[in-house]
Amino acid sequence: MKCIAVTPGIKGSARLIEAEKPRVDKDRLLVRVRRVGIDGTDIDINQGLYGKAPEGKRELILGHESIGGIEEMGEEVKNFKLGDLVVATVRRPCEEDCLNCHHGESDMCLTGHFKERGINGLDGYLSEYYTEVSEFLVKVPDDLEEVAVLLEPFSIVEKGIFQTFKIQERMLWEPKKVLVLGAGSIGLLAALICRLKGLAVFLLARKELEGVRAEIVTRTGMTYLRDDISFERIRSMHGEMDIILEGTGFSPLAFHSLPVLHANGSMCLLGIPVGSHTVTINGSQLFSKMVLGNQVLFGSVNANRKYFEMGLEEMRKIENQYPGLLAKLITQRLAMADFKKAFEPYPGHIKTVVEME
Ligand code: BGC
Ligand code: ZN
Repeated sequence: MKCIAVTPGIKGSARLIEAEKPRVDKDRLLVRVRRVGIDGTDIDINQGLYGKAPEGKRELILGHESIGGIEEMGEEVKNFKLGDLVVATVRRPCEEDCLNCHHGESDMCLTGHFKERGINGLDGYLSEYYTEVSEFLVKVPDDLEEVAVLLEPFSIVEKGIFQTFKIQERMLWEPKKVLVLGAGSIGLLAALICRLKGLAVFLLARKELEGVRAEIVTRTGMTYLRDDISFERIRSMHGEMDIILEGTGFSPLAFHSLPVLHANGSMCLLGIPVGSHTVTINGSQLFSKMVLGNQVLFGSVNANRKYFEMGLEEMRKIENQYPGLLAKLITQRLAMADFKKAFEPYPGHIKTVVEME
């Protein structure tokens, strides 16, 4: 079978390889992959900045955002049938005495020794086939087939927003405004979910407001902010924000946005920085505003199956309210042979997917 693999640590090593089609053990399912989304993590891995091959191997099969159909099942598998559509979760539990991993919360792993398919120590889904146990496969209704390739990034956002509201149960809280940093797929999905919750959404982005982004912003009634605006100005024009969701991974932007967080507000970091940036801030001023304003700053990574399932429900709501909008986030579809283009920037880029069939 054909796969796309990298040699972690080596820049630009992504290549098409031939691998043996996996055998189906008694408790596993064979998934024929239909399409795979590419994100910043894949790009970082191909840059040689991130990622780890499975133990004893030099090559890592890429891909962690996927949709596929069940083609074969081991005799012990229950609750699935041939042809079912599935999205696989990414993280796999560590093998240590870890409270969270033992209870299906490997996204909250305590040891850091988890693995991640297509990223960290396990092969991914940019492959004609993969096998998995049922625990890590989330069934997708047929009518969401087209957009379900977005479910993995969706689950990340779903978790960040769910946890924001969970944390904020610490008091009476009626959030009205959210500032979303970044208009890539994480930022746009976060902004959409917040609009559905009836929040006023302020979307800060480096890019011009055009194409699909313009359509999303106008159709859903968000306020677009170009990132050459200062946070001072955002505050004076739009007031302070109850929630900030960070989806750029650019730490200076994240730190500099904190002064627009409202009293009792929460900021959630979702973007993963690469490289290093030194940020000069007045720490005392920042801390004193956080203390006197009961503020929360937290990070959130990955997602367990609960958030994938919640994500499917939320996707359906978005589809109902804004038919056809989610599919437009897919701005480039590539055949497997053209996969290299997935690592190159292009105007209007939101999500590139590789079509495997
Ligand atoms: C993936 C997450 C993963 C994270 C860190 C992200 O791109 O979507 O599942 O936990 O990278 O490796
Ligand atoms: Zn663990």
